[in-house]
Amino acid sequence: MEKNQIVEVEIVDLSHEGQGIAKVDGRVFFVDNALPGEVIQMRVLKVTKKIGYGKVEDWLKVSPHRNQATNVTYLRTGIADLGHLNYDQQLLFKQKQVQQNIKKIAGIDSLDVAPTLAANAPLAYRNKAAVPIRRIQGQLESGFFRKNSHDLIPIEDFYIQEKEIDALILATRNLLRRLDLKPYDEKEGTGLIRNILVRRAHYTGEMMLVLVTTRPKIFRVEQLIEQLTKEFPHLVSVIQNINDQKTNAILGQEFRLLYGKETITDQMLGNNFEISAQSFYQVNTPMAEKLYQVAMDMADLQPADIAIDAYSGIGTIGLSLAKQVDHVYGVEVIPKAVEDSQKNAQTNGITNVTYVCDQAESAMQNWLDQGIRPTVIFVDPPRKGLTPSFIQSSAQVQPDRIVYISCNSATMARDVKHYQELGYTLKQVQPVDLFPQTHHVEVVGLLEKEGVGQS
Ligand code: SAH
Repeated sequence: MEKNQIVEVEIVDLSHEGQGIAKVDGRVFFVDNALPGEVIQMRVLKVTKKIGYGKVEDWLKVSPHRNQATNVTYLRTGIADLGHLNYDQQLLFKQKQVQQNIKKIAGIDSLDVAPTLAANAPLAYRNKAAVPIRRIQGQLESGFFRKNSHDLIPIEDFYIQEKEIDALILATRNLLRRLDLKPYDEKEGTGLIRNILVRRAHYTGEMMLVLVTTRPKIFRVEQLIEQLTKEFPHLVSVIQNINDQKTNAILGQEFRLLYGKETITDQMLGNNFEISAQSFYQVNTPMAEKLYQVAMDMADLQPADIAIDAYSGIGTIGLSLAKQVDHVYGVEVIPKAVEDSQKNAQTNGITNVTYVCDQAESAMQNWLDQGIRPTVIFVDPPRKGLTPSFIQSSAQVQPDRIVYISCNSATMARDVKHYQELGYTLKQVQPVDLFPQTHHVEVVGLLEKEGVGQS
């Protein structure tokens, strides 16, 4: 096998990132935009001893599950890497992924993962966008980086973003052009505008625009803001973020308020939530509500329960369930997000919550030392999952239930294995589709202390 060779192969599976898998001469090949059951002419892009990467040259047999309607440009950009698969099959793919991880990583054979809860809107659902600004053929463009690259693909219809966000991006791009503001040039380290971020509160429609720049001074920014707020009355917050580093990170350290408020306000499960530019907020609001509802139902909350909301962000989970329990203790590491959660508790008249800014690990240990005895613990960590020390201390307080909300079923399965060794049993697993058209899946797992619920 060598580079550029063309071979006929059958695609036998999908990788967890949604690439087609073919097996040739004992090697596993990964192929973009290829589906199980398809027979293709594959061009070899790269080979190592055990694996290879290929590209579709031609289809000899096309899968009946292929979404023919989807414009493949979106695929290449990497924002919709499962867009070429029909939606019902995307849901099955996600359920199977989670099931495999529970089996292979957690070592559990006996538990059936529930069918993926389908999204109410499989398109135009994202409430947030981060869009690089670059110069292409002399013109300032906004779009998305092609997968695994920094090649900007100009795009106007982002397909999975709320349409009002696309409209604001387009208007901003046009004004940046008209006002002759210079796009960032990564190679030269020159130019001013690196990225624009847009957040939109799904239920109230309020929008926030963040301009990420290399320097503090933005020429003619008053004109930009005047025009945009005239055209978009819902644009209530314009913020500048300064990032002068040669880095892939989008945001720098410094934020400045240019116009309006520092936050936008959205609603979830009947509460109002203020959201800062720095705070984490689930990108699909109606489906996040469903996710939280699934988590609360699994927890089987009782009025005497003491609940922990670990990795709490702006407090969406803890505040949603506060009325059903005695007290909620929450922990989050980003100071602005913790401020938001405290404010959100106040605004909604919720007094039985305590949010602290700390690492989840040390907060857990502190609560343990203070004699706080939670009966149910919610965890919602980032992709890397929990740390062994958090798992240890959370199991040590012996809550009846641990509800694990995860955006990465592989690390969740690893942590479940650890919890099982400490006397907890995995009872239920429910994938929820917050990210249609992409390989990402959110999942809720219920761990119960051995002996609980057997009466
Ligand atoms: N539960 C929230 C946020 C989930 S995202 C929601 O549903 O919206 C995960 C959150 O964990 C982020 O807000 C991130 O800032 C926070 N985080 C990451 N590492 C942490 C740690 N070690 N301790 C506490 N919080 C952490």
